[in-house]
Amino acid sequence: MKTYTGRLAPSPTGALHIGNIRTFMVAWLRARSAKGRVLMRMEDLDHPRDKPGAAKKIIETLEWLGFDWDEEMVQSERKDIYREATGKLHSLGFIYPCVCSRKDVENAQAAPHEGDQLFYPGTCRGRFSSWSDAKATLPENRLPCWRFKVPENTTVSFTDNFAGEYSMDVSRCLGDFPLARSEDGAGYTLAAVLDDALSGITEVVRGDDLLPATPAQILVCRALGFKEPEYCHVPLVVGPDGRRLAKRHGDTRIETFRSAGRTAEEIIGRLAKSCGFWNGSPIKLRDLTDCFDPAKIPLSRFTASEETFFG
Ligand code: GLU
Repeated sequence: MKTYTGRLAPSPTGALHIGNIRTFMVAWLRARSAKGRVLMRMEDLDHPRDKPGAAKKIIETLEWLGFDWDEEMVQSERKDIYREATGKLHSLGFIYPCVCSRKDVENAQAAPHEGDQLFYPGTCRGRFSSWSDAKATLPENRLPCWRFKVPENTTVSFTDNFAGEYSMDVSRCLGDFPLARSEDGAGYTLAAVLDDALSGITEVVRGDDLLPATPAQILVCRALGFKEPEYCHVPLVVGPDGRRLAKRHGDTRIETFRSAGRTAEEIIGRLAKSCGFWNGSPIKLRDLTDCFDPAKIPLSRFTASEETFFG
């Protein structure tokens, strides 16, 4: 059997909060309790949202909390790899450059849409033979994006190890979804899928906000010639208003709890309690491997705020 290989994939767009750590804790415990490997992958391709110094701070916070890993990878150092894969996908006819603006795509929606996944009907399919041809039709300040050609009747189904059966008719829900917004393909979807495949990730553990993005990622993975990993999407932490944890829910950053005198063991103990496999007393992350039981994690999202977390 293949050694279990998991990953922690933070984006350096800000400081880690209890929501990030709850998911990382499950990802890390899943790997370590299976005597597996952990990859730390810094997903720093999201300029200008990436914040200077955030990557270093994230590593420092994770180490303070007791996380460790066997390998490190930084996506901004891997652009040549993404460029080569993009070239291959283009020459095989899986992707094409598109010059439609977000407004164009929004205006073309047949029905009102929720969330940020818009349907794209394929307007630019077959229009340009190269990225530079597409770019030449745009003003200086705009760039084309790469889109993935989704054939008609493309339904992707998989069994998530936490969320269960999941299925999406990608051709009807998303159409030709965007893959990357730079010529070299260095964008989240392509980079994450390719890095998972090249690093031999056996299971992707992450927040369930990414569940709807997974069918498209599976299509990209298969187009690149790989078999997709297993997936395990765990419920996010939300604020008392039911929305994804954010500044309006107070300061839930780990560094803030730390400066207020909370220990790593207290934070980990509290998060493990929210996952149902620990009583909440202070504990080191590594000491949780014996009692870790993903079946005990509640199916509903965990509600917390700065006031209630230790309350
Ligand atoms: N870097 C992404 C995030 O911080 C995670 C992506 C993934 O796990 O695939 O939301």
